[in-house]
Amino acid sequence: MRLAFDLHMHSCLSPCGSEDNTPADLAAMCALAGLQVVALTDHNTTGNCPAFCAAAAAHGLLALPGMELTTQEDVHVVCLFPDLPSAAKFGEYVRARLPAIPNDPAFWGRQLLMDAEDGILGEETAFLAGSTDIGIYDVHALITSFGGVAFPAHIDRPSFSLLGNLGLWDPSMGFPLAEVTPNCPPELFQRPDLAGVPHIADCDAHYLHQVPDAHQYMDLPELTPQAVLDWLRRGGQ
Ligand SMILES: [Zn+2]
Ligand SMILES: [Zn+2]
Repeated sequence: MRLAFDLHMHSCLSPCGSEDNTPADLAAMCALAGLQVVALTDHNTTGNCPAFCAAAAAHGLLALPGMELTTQEDVHVVCLFPDLPSAAKFGEYVRARLPAIPNDPAFWGRQLLMDAEDGILGEETAFLAGSTDIGIYDVHALITSFGGVAFPAHIDRPSFSLLGNLGLWDPSMGFPLAEVTPNCPPELFQRPDLAGVPHIADCDAHYLHQVPDAHQYMDLPELTPQAVLDWLRRGGQ
């Protein structure tokens, strides 16, 4: 089956995410946009994934729990998991590898933990905008050990990206594909290091109005998280 997807979005738990981006409203916006497979990828946390996955399921969407991990090189990597327990376990793993400083809500914004009905459960106190102590060369094996798939985020951006921070795509990092922004020039993949590297384009929405209409599709044999992860592991095939 051919399914519209976007696998990189933030909720109000991300310090830079709009407080209007509640998991329930984000899921509703994805449904309105015609997306069918989606993922929540807040910065260095999976805390709102239970709410988002429940809200998305109520709209008939397949939602994967995820995270946008910040490596010690300040490179953003999208990490997706087969189920909520795996995502929660990885969330705990990452929380212990964040800088030992609290979030400053006045400067960075509140980090709201929500339920699926727009209720506020609390605030995450850890500083989610920082980088973890996880190195980029360790991410692929680490996420695989949690049953998930990881791919470098928005590689065509000048900051917080693999190309911006490290300069080139090194296949020995093990990532099965790359993510670009929707405005990425196709010529980028004429670079020798990127020749033949499969890629998808995600919206990285931090505000509800940034959720795009259906813009890319995946072919899956069945509508399950595992089928999505397998498709990604095959480089989007
Ligand atoms: Zn990012
Ligand atoms: Zn992002």
